[in-house]
Amino acid sequence: MELKEMGKMKLLWAQKYMKLLKSFEEELAERSALKGVRLVVSVHLEAKTANLALTLHRLGADVVATGSNPLSTQDEIVEALKEQGVKVPAWHTHSMDEYMEQLHKALDHHPQLIIDDGADLTVLAHTERREVLQELVGISEETTTGVRRDKALEKSNELKVPVIAVNDSKMKYLFDNRYGTGQSTWDGIIRNTNTTVAGKTVVVAGYGWCGRGIALRAKGLGARVIVTEVDPIRAAEAVMDGFQVMKMVDAASEGDIFVTATGNKDVITKRHFEKMKDGAILANAGHFNVEIAMDELEAIATKRYNSRPNVTTYVLRNGRELHLLAEGRLVNLAAADGHPIEIMDLSFSLQLLSVVHLWENKDKLEPKVYTLPESIDEEVARRFLNIYGHGLDTLSDKQRRYLESASS
Ligand code: NAD
Ligand code: SAH
Repeated sequence: MELKEMGKMKLLWAQKYMKLLKSFEEELAERSALKGVRLVVSVHLEAKTANLALTLHRLGADVVATGSNPLSTQDEIVEALKEQGVKVPAWHTHSMDEYMEQLHKALDHHPQLIIDDGADLTVLAHTERREVLQELVGISEETTTGVRRDKALEKSNELKVPVIAVNDSKMKYLFDNRYGTGQSTWDGIIRNTNTTVAGKTVVVAGYGWCGRGIALRAKGLGARVIVTEVDPIRAAEAVMDGFQVMKMVDAASEGDIFVTATGNKDVITKRHFEKMKDGAILANAGHFNVEIAMDELEAIATKRYNSRPNVTTYVLRNGRELHLLAEGRLVNLAAADGHPIEIMDLSFSLQLLSVVHLWENKDKLEPKVYTLPESIDEEVARRFLNIYGHGLDTLSDKQRRYLESASS
């Protein structure tokens, strides 16, 4: 099938399940909220992101879409999007230089608004491409790591525009990070290895929102789960949730499958690789390609070969083989289709509301990192329950008064 046709099919399929985004679009169309606004979407360029870009385009924005990770851009989606009038200076690539070239081209659009994921574009705009800051009104950030980088810019007084940390909305991290990553990480590992999870020992590094979802779903698939953490409270939570908690250096010899989701670097390193079993599978679901120290893996390997698409096998001096998925990048996005559609429908509804909020409040917002008003979170939750037919009770006046009083 022609690339463009395949892309169109994927887009239409995703549209069927993005009902919240559609309902917000219908509402916003009435007030032409984004008419003529130059906007760059820099998010993993697959079907759900394309639907966000098309929604913004239909609402009148002048949209450029690019990726947020060199490996997660799907070329069929790029072709389908271009056909519908969105400019897309992006293509699937293994080269960081080409990825940076794509980001530069996106900034040539001189955006007034940016939807970013991981803050690569934000940092570029605040360093090499500072001229774009003149017209930039605001940035909406999708993920934990991006928010961390934005806050670092804010702390050092380098942040020049308001940022909304969409990641920090409850309807984002409680669903996308937890259940989205929980499902799509296993989708990525299973579809690329075709091996069993049941009966295996899975080591999950990090028990944040992503790690919780990954561990929960591993348990559901029949694995024995070990969690590693650096935060004592989260480690204690993992214990009470029924997982074994240990240091990575001790878990290294026990695991069959390792998944990192910490947002940190060098979580699995040489001293861990050397203790691992023959055939251990290594996957990252956190960010970029720094959680698993690939340079150290390269250095201690005597041989490296591709054993399946998206699987690189390293042979160590001790003769054992370790299988690294998706070049150490997000396994769910670089080697699969990312989170399921209904999850991205929630996240991208928030993104849509976030850019409208930034635009409509541009005279009031300062160069700080904000969260969305709670009323927006609540509206998304209500609409979600309504669209999927779930009931929600309401407080009576008597109950409300009781809850607000000191009565026993
Ligand atoms: P979080 O802050 O809730 O959790 C991260 C956890 O990792 C924390 O509990 C922290 O204490 C722990 N940690 C840090 N360093 C560690 C180390 N060396 N060893 C063990 N644990 C360590 O963050 P989150 O929302 O769960 O996000 C985690 C990462 O996943 C971020 O980079 C985020 O951007 C990314 N993310 C990926 C996807 C995806 O689709 N794959 C989705 C959402 C978020
Ligand atoms: N861009 C960085 C940062 C991590 S991306 C990197 O590539 O390493 C993690 C984000 O990807 C999550 O917050 C999630 O909202 C987003 N994501 C997950 N599945 C997605 C999908 N199917 N389409 C678009 N974005 C997705």
